[in-house]
Amino acid sequence: MKILCDTHSHTIASTHAYSTVHDYFRDAKLNGLQLFSITDHAPEMPDAPHPWHFGNMKIIPRVVDGIAMLRGIEANILADPYAGTDKRYVDLPDGMLPYLDYAIASFHEPVLPPGSKRDNTRAMIRAMESGVIQIIGHPGNPNYPVDQDDIVRAAKDHNVLLEINNSSFTHSRQGSEPFCTSMVETVMKHDWKISLGSDAHISFHVGIFDEAIAVLRALDFPEQNIATRTPARFLAFLAEHGKTVDQELAPWLATVVQTSA
Ligand SMILES: [Zn+2]
Ligand SMILES: [Zn+2]
Repeated sequence: MKILCDTHSHTIASTHAYSTVHDYFRDAKLNGLQLFSITDHAPEMPDAPHPWHFGNMKIIPRVVDGIAMLRGIEANILADPYAGTDKRYVDLPDGMLPYLDYAIASFHEPVLPPGSKRDNTRAMIRAMESGVIQIIGHPGNPNYPVDQDDIVRAAKDHNVLLEINNSSFTHSRQGSEPFCTSMVETVMKHDWKISLGSDAHISFHVGIFDEAIAVLRALDFPEQNIATRTPARFLAFLAEHGKTVDQELAPWLATVVQTSA
C-alpha cells in the first residue's frame, strides 16, 4: 500500500525543524510522494513563524518538478479562557483562513497543559466544532488521554480526519503506540477516516510512514478510509470543506499517475 500524500511537515519556519521548502520538494519526489504539505506551527507555539509566513505562502509554486505542495498550518487546541470570538478554541485568526488550504489542530504542552481526560476530550471536540480545521494531529498522544469513542463520533459528525502520525512511533510523544493503535481500532469501529502524516521536521522523513502502515496492516484497516492515500482523494475531501485547491491543481492532477482515487 503506497501512500501518495503527506499532510504534516515542518520547515525551518518553525525553528526546531531543519529543512526548506526546496528540500521538501526534492525529498517528496525521492520518497515516492505525489503531494505533500507544509504545516508549520500556528502563532501560540513558542517557535511559530510570524503570521505573515502563512499569508505569503501563496508565492510558493503549487507544483515543482511534478510534485504538488499544499499550504497548511498546525494549529493549537486552546483552553476556554483563550477562546475569543475569532479564536474558536484553535489559534487561527479569521484573517489567516483564506490563505490556508487546510488546518491541523493538535495538543501541544507549551500552549495547553494536559488536563483530565474529560477536559482534553471537550477541548478536542470544541476544536472540531470550530469548522475551521480538517485534521486532528497526533490524537494518540498519551499525555492527553481522550475518550476515543467520543472523539471519533465528533470527527465523523464534523468531517474531520484523525491523523495517524508516524513520528509518534519514532521520534515524538513516547508511549503513543497503544493509544494510536486503539485510535485506529476506534476509527474502524465507527467506519470513519484517517490521514497519514510523517510530521517530518527534516525533509528526509517526508512520506515515510513505515510504522504507521505496519499498525494499519496488522489491524486490516480499510484502504478506502485512508483519506490521504491519493491526491485526488485528499483534494476531494478538502473540497467538502469548501477548499477549492482541487480546482487549482486540476491540470496537474490530470498528469499524475492515477491509482484508485
Ligand atoms: Zn504537533
Ligand atoms: Zn507537527
